[in-house]
Parts: sequence; structure tokens; C-alpha cells
Amino acid sequence: MDGPRFVIEASEAESMAKKSGIAIPLLLPSLVESAQGLARPPISKFHVGAVGLGSSGRVFFGVNLEFPGLPLHHSVHAEQFLVMNLALNDESRLNFLAVSAAPCGHCRQFLQEVRAAAEIEIFVSSIESCSKSNDYVPLPELLPHRFGPDDLLDKSIPLILEPRFNGLSLPDESAGNHNGDWEKLKSVALNAANVSHAPYSKCPSGVAVMDADGRVYKGPYMESAAYNPSMGPVQAAVIAYVSGGGEGYEKIVAAVLVEKEGVEVKQEHTARLLLQVISPVCEFRVVHCIAAV
Ligand SMILES: [Zn+2]
Repeated sequence: MDGPRFVIEASEAESMAKKSGIAIPLLLPSLVESAQGLARPPISKFHVGAVGLGSSGRVFFGVNLEFPGLPLHHSVHAEQFLVMNLALNDESRLNFLAVSAAPCGHCRQFLQEVRAAAEIEIFVSSIESCSKSNDYVPLPELLPHRFGPDDLLDKSIPLILEPRFNGLSLPDESAGNHNGDWEKLKSVALNAANVSHAPYSKCPSGVAVMDADGRVYKGPYMESAAYNPSMGPVQAAVIAYVSGGGEGYEKIVAAVLVEKEGVEVKQEHTARLLLQVISPVCEFRVVHCIAAV
């Protein structure tokens, strides 16, 4: 596919590092600037790029996204984008992370949702001593005395990059409409809801968006133990859209949200608002799913 790439295959990363005569983790800082170039921050104009190395050897990019016309808390930070990019590509561990500016408190918190978060090694390009010595520091140096999943969840509950199935299905009546595009959107949104990380509220949800060319992108809702850094399903789908080569958001023409009915944590109103602002032409539908006992 043409356009910006947000995932570098392991073999390519290996040969890039070999060519430069460095170990793969040291390749990441050299890619941060090109990641920054992919950021979309029309409000702050502050481009943040994050580059991560997963346990499969693949390299992932993350960038910040801002949405004019909406409150700032709808923004997506580069490190969150990166974690979602790993999740969307079934990567199970984040081992190294290089980022253009020091991760904010919100992102240090969001990273706690990754299993063995304490082992993530972080390189910050804007810190002079870092760039001189190529030093990575483990996440606990940036966030000591953490509050995280361990404080609220049993260890057997899967965390953000671990496989899960939430056991949701579509109601029978939703099968009545045989319009192919909507059926496809519903099934992708259901899949997103089924892999959604919502262990705190137990209100999983997922969004699927379709662009004018008929391409579909999946957005699973992802929670944080600290609640506020949680990533909404529309933001997740927008990350899939941007990392999948999507251009202007106004090309998003249809979207489906799948969530449970009457739940305490409901995405419908926020999802509708966000989509309406970023793509006024987008037709939005909500499907209430059934949860298996
Ligand atoms: Zn941040």
C-alpha cells in the first residue's frame, strides 16, 4: 500500500539496523523524526512521534491526533496511538519505546495497562543526556509508585495486549437488514467490542468506520485503571484509519458502534458527537449487543 507506514516488519527492521551497524533498539530513536512527520496536531502544532519495538521484532509508529471543534480531552497522544497500533496488529508485548518528548503523566499511566509495564524501556529524544548516551530508562523511573491494574484486577484477567473474548453477539433483528456495507460494519464493530479491554467497567464496546472507498477500520474501546486515560472506541477507530493510510476524516462516511444496552459506561453520545464534528457526512448507527452469561 502507498502512503505512510505505521508498521515495519521485523525482517526490514533487522536489515535497517544491520545497515547502520546498531542494535535494533537503537534504531528506534532514528525513526522518531519520521514518526513526528505523520502527526496531526492542528491545535497545538506540537508534533509528537513514538516508535515502539514489539516482542515479534516488528516496529510500530504512534503519533498525536487533535480534533478542532472538540474539547481537548478527545485528543489522542502518540504513546496511546502506539499501544493501540500494537493491539490492532496482535502484538503481545512492547519492549522498547522511543518518543520525541517526555511522555506526559496521562501516557505514563496508560502504559500501565500493558503486562510487565515495568520492563518497558523508554528513550526520550528531547532529553539531551539521552541522545548523547543512547540511554533507555525503564518506565518505573518515569512513574514510580504506580497505580495500575494490579491494584484493581486479579492477575488472571487479560491486560491490554493480551487476547480476550468478551462473549458479545448481535441481536437477531439486526440480521434483517441485508445491506452488505452495514452488515460488514456491524460485524467488524462486534469484533472490536469482543476484543475491547474493559475490565474495570465491564462495559466493552467497539466501533467500525468505513471510508468512501469502502475500506473498514476497527476500533476497540480500551480502559485505563485510572479511568480518564481510557481510549474511546471512535478514537481507536480513527487510529486504525490513520495508521491504515486514511487521509482526511471527512472521507469517513459510515460508522457503527456496538455496545450493551443500559450500561453504566455508555459510548453512544460521545461517539456521535465526535464523528459529527470530524466528518459531518458520516452516517452513524448504534447496535445494542447481547452478552453471553
Ligand atoms: Zn501523553
